[in-house]
Amino acid sequence: MDAQLLIGSSFELGTEFEGEVINPKTGLKIIELAEASERQVNAAVTAAQKAFGSWSRTTPSERASYLLRVADAIERHADDFATLEALNCGKPITAVRNDELPAIIDCWRFFAGAVRTMHAPVAGEYLQGYTSMIRRDAVGVIGSIAPWNYPLMMMAWKLAPAIAGGNTVVFKPSEQTPLTALKMAGLLAEILPAGVVNVVHGRGETVGNAIINHAGIAMLSITGDITTGKKVMQAAATTVKRTHLELGGKAPLIIYDDADLEAVVEGIRTFGYYNAGQDCTAACRIYAQAGVYEKFVADLTSAVSTIRYNDPDDATNEMGPLISARQRDRVAGFVSRAEEQKHIEITTGGSLGSEKGFFYQPTVIAGAIQDDEVVQREIFGPVVSVTRFTSDDEAVNWANDSDYGLASSVWTRDISKAMTAASRLQYGCTWINTHFMLTTEMPHGGVKQSGYGKDMSVYALEDYTSVRHVMIRCV
Ligand code: NAD
Repeated sequence: MDAQLLIGSSFELGTEFEGEVINPKTGLKIIELAEASERQVNAAVTAAQKAFGSWSRTTPSERASYLLRVADAIERHADDFATLEALNCGKPITAVRNDELPAIIDCWRFFAGAVRTMHAPVAGEYLQGYTSMIRRDAVGVIGSIAPWNYPLMMMAWKLAPAIAGGNTVVFKPSEQTPLTALKMAGLLAEILPAGVVNVVHGRGETVGNAIINHAGIAMLSITGDITTGKKVMQAAATTVKRTHLELGGKAPLIIYDDADLEAVVEGIRTFGYYNAGQDCTAACRIYAQAGVYEKFVADLTSAVSTIRYNDPDDATNEMGPLISARQRDRVAGFVSRAEEQKHIEITTGGSLGSEKGFFYQPTVIAGAIQDDEVVQREIFGPVVSVTRFTSDDEAVNWANDSDYGLASSVWTRDISKAMTAASRLQYGCTWINTHFMLTTEMPHGGVKQSGYGKDMSVYALEDYTSVRHVMIRCV
């Protein structure tokens, strides 16, 4: 694996600022990676434009066979990918191997099938003497920018629907987690025609900025922070680019008095701390009804205090470190500011989790109230807040009182109560008596400042294609 950019069919070393890729478990350097220059970003866009003409005219069946080959190649190299992702992100290797890689491979296979079954209203004479039909055509060159929390999965979510739809792509992984993208570039270059996917490395403010402002790019797809999403929207306005934005979340969980508490506690222990809480759907903002509040906090506290992390035997670890010292310190800042509030109690955790590396203890913050920073802002770490509520209205109103709108869940044995809450929650997804579960056939994406556009599912294919009307005069 070389530290190289993929431009067309050639591999080139970056020629600008040399950044370090750090192992979050140790804080030590893994590799140095030079970023793409403006000339190299331009060359990647030109290569994608050149490839677009022929790629966008291939049949769905031809594109499907390429995607299936990509899926097979990832499957063949699954051990290497798991090792690289675990090294770069600090994730327990079992989580990458058993959870992430099957989902990544499934995503590539899903879009291979889905692109062959796109549908639209029937062609017909909606005006006498004229036949109308709908087409779904590729948008053009997509500028695609990914975050660091699930690098290979975000690459699959972005590339598979885009190229299945006939587009070509200039892809930039996060500068913090380029390792699996470096390996993927090698496989993609062997499988795909030159220029269909181009991979450039570098920081957001330089390489990312060059991509989002490039006049040759037709659509921008970004998963990242809200502030980054706003910059993308501003840049997109200059040439009216289409945008697809996945911008984080602050998922509320409403736990009613009649919920199965054991299932709730197990669910939060797993889905509040998975990937060290660095997940935009993490089960992090709990509203527990007054009748179960005390028992719930006690049970959650004891369950969370058993989460295993930083064990020398990685097979036993359930949680890894934060991605960087900066992210760990950011998380620690949220917790220490919360601790200063009289109404708050840190019932477990609340400190750094190791001397070396970027671990933070799995933490529960009880007694939080709606205006608290830990309730309102995305922490993106292993920290869960618990707020007491009394009435159903209070719970739903507080859950909706957020800039974010990505994911939510409702926990109750009363299905009509669950369905009422689900219909009132302003979130892209509401789970009932579970949380976090994704499946490739179903859409993932937000409302409000969590962004718009869907990943996975046929809705992603719709986002990455343009609907067109063709009308023929038949007399
Ligand atoms: P980030 O916004 O800092 O970076 C994301 C990507 O954008 C990186 O590749 C970065 O280099 C690039 N970038 C940064 N500034 C840029 C600029 N000015 N121009 C162009 N590109 C730029 O986010 P992050 O810290 O890598 O990821 C964490 C964030 O992503 C969290 O807010 C999280 O919730 C969100 N996220 C959302 C989803 C979702 O599906 N909604 C999924 C994963 C992560």
